Amino acid sequence: MHPPTAIKKRLNELGLRSRLRARPRAQGRILAPAGLLRRLPSTPGLYFPFYHDVAAEYGADLRRHLRTLQRIGPMLSWDEALAVLAGERELTGPMFCLSFDDAHLTWRDVAAPILLEMRVPAMFFVTSGLVGRPGNLTWSDCRQLAAAGFAFGSHTITHQRLTDQDDDTAERELTDSKREIEDELGVAVHDFAAPYGSAVDCGEREVAMARRAGYRSFATTLRPAMHPGESPMWIRRQGLHPAWPIMAVRTRVHD
Ligand SMILES: [Zn+2]
Repeated sequence: MHPPTAIKKRLNELGLRSRLRARPRAQGRILAPAGLLRRLPSTPGLYFPFYHDVAAEYGADLRRHLRTLQRIGPMLSWDEALAVLAGERELTGPMFCLSFDDAHLTWRDVAAPILLEMRVPAMFFVTSGLVGRPGNLTWSDCRQLAAAGFAFGSHTITHQRLTDQDDDTAERELTDSKREIEDELGVAVHDFAAPYGSAVDCGEREVAMARRAGYRSFATTLRPAMHPGESPMWIRRQGLHPAWPIMAVRTRVHD
């Protein structure tokens, strides 16, 4: 394809995608037919589904997703999932490890109560610069979630695409966010999720930086299931929205 056409096509796709993201039920309906071609997992594999905001109107939908996954296999904490990758814990079938990105206030009000009630562990990847802003958690909220047993990781300070940043800036996004979350929560932060998280949004440079900063895991948004022996420094996660029907979930979480 001629480059300008390719760029235009990509921009059109991005425009469509961001319009659909704002209307998650419509997005779910559009994705659903492709789910006919896929099945929810039935063979051994470690899946890392993740969400962003969980508005109150989607609380029942999140429950439905989690019930569906729980019927298929256990929900592991981030620590337990890393143990599976390291071969220290057996992969007995499909297994799931849940995470949430950014710093949404609805984690406190909607997601956490559901997770606690359903006994589902979760990792919260916090964009430290969002904390305290309208619509987002405060540090006090984060401390309460940590005290309730949820894990915390870093999702940078400013949520910029790391591959767009020079070395010093990208390095600061990784190190300063880690330090701030550690200082505010009084817990060690070992886990990192890259903003946007596709192969154009992060790569070898960012993984090397994360290692230097002291992270033990690096999460992307590439989708395929993971298996023992694979590196925790390139975790593949499956982005979901609670508003999606299970048929749409099947396009992301499948064998
Ligand atoms: Zn994000």
